[in-house]
Amino acid sequence: VIGAEGSDEENLVRAIDESVCEPARILSTAGLNCLARTDSGREIECTVRRVVRTLSRDSRNALVTGDRVLIQIVNDQQGVVERVEPRHGVLSRESGGREHIIAANVDQALIVVSADDPPLKPNLIDRFLVSSERGEVAPIICINKTDLVAPSDLQPIVGMYAQLGYRIVLCSGLNGVGIAPLQRMLRGKQTVLSGQSGVGKSTIINQIDPSLNLDTSSVSDWTSKGKHTTRRAVMYPIVANGWVIDTPGIRQLALWNVEREEVEGYFIEFRPFVPLCRFPDCRHTIEADCGVKRAVVAELISSQRYDSYLKILSDEQFDE
Ligand code: GDP
Ligand code: ZN
Repeated sequence: VIGAEGSDEENLVRAIDESVCEPARILSTAGLNCLARTDSGREIECTVRRVVRTLSRDSRNALVTGDRVLIQIVNDQQGVVERVEPRHGVLSRESGGREHIIAANVDQALIVVSADDPPLKPNLIDRFLVSSERGEVAPIICINKTDLVAPSDLQPIVGMYAQLGYRIVLCSGLNGVGIAPLQRMLRGKQTVLSGQSGVGKSTIINQIDPSLNLDTSSVSDWTSKGKHTTRRAVMYPIVANGWVIDTPGIRQLALWNVEREEVEGYFIEFRPFVPLCRFPDCRHTIEADCGVKRAVVAELISSQRYDSYLKILSDEQFDE
């Protein structure tokens, strides 16, 4: 170790002897330990060099699932995290007034819903989209269980989201339709998996990579050995070269840190119409002379999306 760089708070990258280190990704963390996977494909338990924690702006989030790191291999079983690279696409939630980072370097979110069983709820898609826009994570809408409905039933909803510019894939974990395009979309990316339970997330992922078994993989075994029984984010490498991040906290939707006033901004097609509202603080609900409501009447904004907006605004999390 050459030593830490100066005290510049913005510069948290340590200067270290990179020749004895290997680049890796953090698959899972538990307490002061983590499971890392080197770019050469070795999975290895690591501790974290104390200075890495000390240098971190927030020691609670010093190392999280999805982090890119440099590790020094100690022996076949052990390594030491020497450096955490700067992050992008951080998913976090607030707990006790502080930010808790769930996963880092998230490139995209796979929002899984089912065409039926449980029935398709566009409102839920819109909630996930708000969260993705908030986290600046590119969403992919995935409608699974298409074998249960007639293709024409899905045309309106597919058309609506495609027109908004969102990527949308139809698939079936039962007959394999749409799995190949999904595989291509996940290639080389760190993708977080979202969607309510029962829509077929595990089934799809096991189709994408048959060598994975989300429930019994070695990674979750490792995590369950940790002292921390709270279920954390776990990242799985997939054979097609990519990583899927699975966490109950992300599966069960929450609108992370979204303020009521921010919601309209995450309905991307509202943006051109908001400046046309008479009142600068218009919530587009009961106000007169509202540009958004006029656009709904003129069918420039889908009434389904507007209904979703109203539902989200009426959430108890926004009660004052
Ligand atoms: P998860 O909770 O989102 O991970 O959902 P699972 O992958 O556990 O799937 C829930 C149920 O839906 C299981 O009984 C699956 O067999 C079933 N299932 C998953 N994908 C499909 C599909 O494409 N079509 C049909 N008909 N059933 C599916
Ligand atoms: Zn308005």
